[in-house]
Amino acid sequence: MDAQAKADLVFKTEDVTKIYDTGEVKVHALAGVNLELMSGELAVLLGPSGSGKSTLLNILGGLDGATSGRVWFRDLELTELSERELTRYRRDHVGFVFQFYNLVPSLSARENVALVTDIARDPMKPAEALELVGLGHRLDHFPAEMSGGEQQRVAIARAIAKRPEVLLCDEPTGALDSKTGVQVLEALDSINRRFGTTTAVITHNAAIRKMAHRVIRFQDGRIADVEINDARIAPSEIEW
Ligand code: ADP
Repeated sequence: MDAQAKADLVFKTEDVTKIYDTGEVKVHALAGVNLELMSGELAVLLGPSGSGKSTLLNILGGLDGATSGRVWFRDLELTELSERELTRYRRDHVGFVFQFYNLVPSLSARENVALVTDIARDPMKPAEALELVGLGHRLDHFPAEMSGGEQQRVAIARAIAKRPEVLLCDEPTGALDSKTGVQVLEALDSINRRFGTTTAVITHNAAIRKMAHRVIRFQDGRIADVEINDARIAPSEIEW
């Protein structure tokens, strides 16, 4: 691999497997995954429920370990790190967005974001992060006063306020209707374009593939195919 291609590579996995051993049964969640994600890309991970998407995202984000195989974030081999080093990796480099927003109900939008910015090295101001997701007018609202889409955008603001290099999103629009879901996708798209944040989005919704640079389809714990999308469309043009 030449130097430029290596510089552009953010994640690389080599024959990653994951077996969940629950005692009675062994579940082969990942059965040999080889993946590359490039700097600044927005990747969409598609595939049936149970095909291994979340398992892989959790391994990339340092939330879980592989059973075998190797995983790199740039030059850092995640599969060699201790728990303590993985915690530091997550804190310094990764923003997470999940299907359910996990906001603290007793804190305002601004205070929810501040929970993260208080411990980050070079954070944005909470108001700046909230403005980036279109919530500059909701700074002092509480989660119960906001729609699901707005709460998810607070969660995105919280994830990006520490200026992570990568943003990992597990079904971020899974609980939303089409209109509010599009606003969430617009927030992710705008962060990706503006900051070049490498972004991976798991979805059940195949229509979302149209906004991605790279579409990765999972089947039975493996990558069935990868498509590079030369004709990306804006989230506002996506319908489901
Ligand atoms: P997807 O995100 O594509 O729906 P997952 O990665 O969540 O797929 O799951 C892959 C497989 O691993 C499924 O069979 C699921 O039941 C199993 N699995 C996921 N997490 C666990 C766990 N913590 N313990 C046992 N099995 C698990």
